[in-house]
Amino acid sequence: MDCTNEILGELLNVEAELQDVQDQIKLLLDQQEKLYARQSELKAILEDCETSDSHHNDGASTAMENWSGSFGWDSQADDLRLNIFGISSFRANQREIINAVLSGRDVLVIMAAGGGKSLCYQLPAVIRDGICLVVSPLLSLIQDQVMGLTALGIPAYMLTSTTSKENEKFIYKALEKNEGDLKILYVTPEKISKSKRFMSKLEKCHHTGRLLLIAIDEAHCCSQWGHDFRPDYKNLGILKTQFPTVPVIALTATATKKVQLDLMEMLHIPKCVKFVSSVNRPNLFYMVREKSSTGKVVVDEIAEFIRGSYPNNESGIVYCFSRKECEQVAKELRERGIKADYYHADMEVKDRENVHLRWSTGKLQVIVGTVAFGMGINKPDVRFVIHHSLSKSMETYYQESGRAGRDGHPAECLLYFRPADMPRQSSMVFYENSGLQNLYDIVRYCQSRTGCRRAAFFKHFAEPLQQCNGMCDNCVSSSEVKDIDVSRHAKAMISLIQNIQESDQKVTMLQLVDKMKVKKADLERRISTHSLYNKCLCGIGSIGTAGLARKEDGEYTGLLW
Ligand code: ADP
Repeated sequence: MDCTNEILGELLNVEAELQDVQDQIKLLLDQQEKLYARQSELKAILEDCETSDSHHNDGASTAMENWSGSFGWDSQADDLRLNIFGISSFRANQREIINAVLSGRDVLVIMAAGGGKSLCYQLPAVIRDGICLVVSPLLSLIQDQVMGLTALGIPAYMLTSTTSKENEKFIYKALEKNEGDLKILYVTPEKISKSKRFMSKLEKCHHTGRLLLIAIDEAHCCSQWGHDFRPDYKNLGILKTQFPTVPVIALTATATKKVQLDLMEMLHIPKCVKFVSSVNRPNLFYMVREKSSTGKVVVDEIAEFIRGSYPNNESGIVYCFSRKECEQVAKELRERGIKADYYHADMEVKDRENVHLRWSTGKLQVIVGTVAFGMGINKPDVRFVIHHSLSKSMETYYQESGRAGRDGHPAECLLYFRPADMPRQSSMVFYENSGLQNLYDIVRYCQSRTGCRRAAFFKHFAEPLQQCNGMCDNCVSSSEVKDIDVSRHAKAMISLIQNIQESDQKVTMLQLVDKMKVKKADLERRISTHSLYNKCLCGIGSIGTAGLARKEDGEYTGLLW
């Protein structure tokens, strides 16, 4: 009896001590989270200080001049804003950017999707005599813009592979001889790099002093460090060389410091005025859900989400990894009663335009697209963006999810994540600059069960933290997340991979999983085969670091970074 009491007593003590240790771990983890947040804030401030200290190094000026003062064109700009563009007031930085452009300066604009970048070159184009040339990467974006401007009564045209002979003639005459009414001309970068005829007409336009402004939209495409490098953008520096007196405005939603420097160099605008707005999109609710390994279940969930939250045909986008997947998911959504169609680069231009038009006009609720869909799509009332599989980087995800809620009203960004999607992406990004690192960053974002999603963006773009205001799943979640140590399993996996490497074997992911299953017998029984599979997939890209796994509602998910 005494013995039992003694043991019970000790058991209680041990349990109390265990509880104590667990409390301490929790406190330390909280503190770690706070320190990470502070670290990112300090890094951002430091970067800001370095930027302003080294103005003469990168050449760009941010706050040196006062662009919000009064200028001779103020009342004309206000009149056009209201009466032509139908906009009641300028948003953050718009007036300042317009002032810098109209003062003849080169300008670099970094403004979140939906911030209103287009107005920054469209309004100056309308105020002044002459032609504004806009370089934009995608046909669909150009069509959108031309359609919108024409509806406002602004003479806008595009010169692309789809332009009719008649329009082409009109445009060339306007450039060369100042005949006809042309204010804004959109071209793809290929026109600049490949059409000598176009460049010679542009030269004539410039010669007679009518080339007013050059706007380069989605300017991050110039940089190999950006998330969407396009080779034809590399040649756009020729514009500044050939027309040195014409101001250039380069615009993008995202550019890390490295990308900013790169594109200033490539576009030959070392002394540009730089306007950087916050990446924060306060109206977007970010969330990540675990993706089932059964394709049908994933589509069931997506359909349920759309039907439940958006029963009134509110527009949305579903991003898929491959063309085939787009077609399949669109078909399965239709089978579940949702008006959906697919969009990818492998379709006839006419078919793509048709799908886009049906979506823009509300005949389709959902476009299921690859990354080919959406860059700069001018649909402000997209209420949800769902990722059927993960993007290749934080920047890509920020851009794609950022197509939601450009009208400033609440919108949702939902990403379905399963580790098995990672190898598909890693094989695609392997040869890109920092491709794998970028992929690991977004995987970390997906796997976080506690960190604020918004804070992850601030950290990525080296911006001081701002409040999330309960606008992400982790900030509103009340489910308790328990961290447990899975170093033993990670070590087992690493040693397995090292053995494979040493014996110079090649294994596929599935073979590796099978080998792990054999090893499983040595591992703790508690961890399910399913989660082991997950860990295995996660771990393949990150040999060397063991980490933690999380247990939620009895299920383990891997976190091996
Ligand atoms: P971005 O190119 O930065 O993604 P857009 O130029 O396409 O954004 O603008 C997004 C939406 O916001 C468009 O519908 C545009 O008409 C609208 N918009 C732009 N500026 C303003 C403003 N100052 N006030 C209200 N709406 C605006």
